Amino acid sequence: MPANILVVEDEPAIQELLALNLSQAGHNPIRALSVEQAQLLMRETQPDLIILDWMLPGMSGIEFARRLKSDDYTKAIPIIMLTARGEEIDKVRGLEIGADDYVTKPFSPRELNARIKAVLRRRAPQMTDDPIESGGLRLDPVTHRVTGNDTTLDLGPTEFKLLHYLMSNPERVHSRAQVLDRVWGDRVFVEDRTVDVHIRRLRQALTVSGHEEMIQTVRGVGYRFSAK
Ligand code: CA
Repeated sequence: MPANILVVEDEPAIQELLALNLSQAGHNPIRALSVEQAQLLMRETQPDLIILDWMLPGMSGIEFARRLKSDDYTKAIPIIMLTARGEEIDKVRGLEIGADDYVTKPFSPRELNARIKAVLRRRAPQMTDDPIESGGLRLDPVTHRVTGNDTTLDLGPTEFKLLHYLMSNPERVHSRAQVLDRVWGDRVFVEDRTVDVHIRRLRQALTVSGHEEMIQTVRGVGYRFSAK
């Protein structure tokens, strides 16, 4: 699924280049020229990743990053810092406050894309376009298709997202709240039992190829995807 990437950059030409590059890579760029603008936009959409320029008018990028990382509501959002300064001390400072990566200007779009992909893979694997395969079950985010032993399975859009999330984080137990947060988004009001309903539908769809047992219920805790 495409990632919403917030670009906070005050130089219009660089911002333009970044937005174009992100669109071409299949993401949704959200553009801000300052921290103030970024904060307004974040009330509408929680980004999946932030590309943040270091030197900005008003509040600096590093100060904004520090604030985001100390707020429970935003600390999980990965941040890639952009800077014109390639000094090692800046890199250390950036990573110390919790930025996930660091790119020095001028950068090649290819390099930035590789960094974005690496950060998303590490922090939000369901945001990458890589197909996932496990025990004969295969999910392809690009074609939006799920196959079980080469048979196409019929999944609704929510079941697809749910399976994508679970397969991206295998062998881990996810509480209903975590699933709601990652699959539905935490600003949507959905009851916990909605998760159960969609898990049931997902299992039903997987019975066609006999993969339903990969979706396991962990009593009193939540759900787990397991190939074992
Ligand atoms: Ca700047």
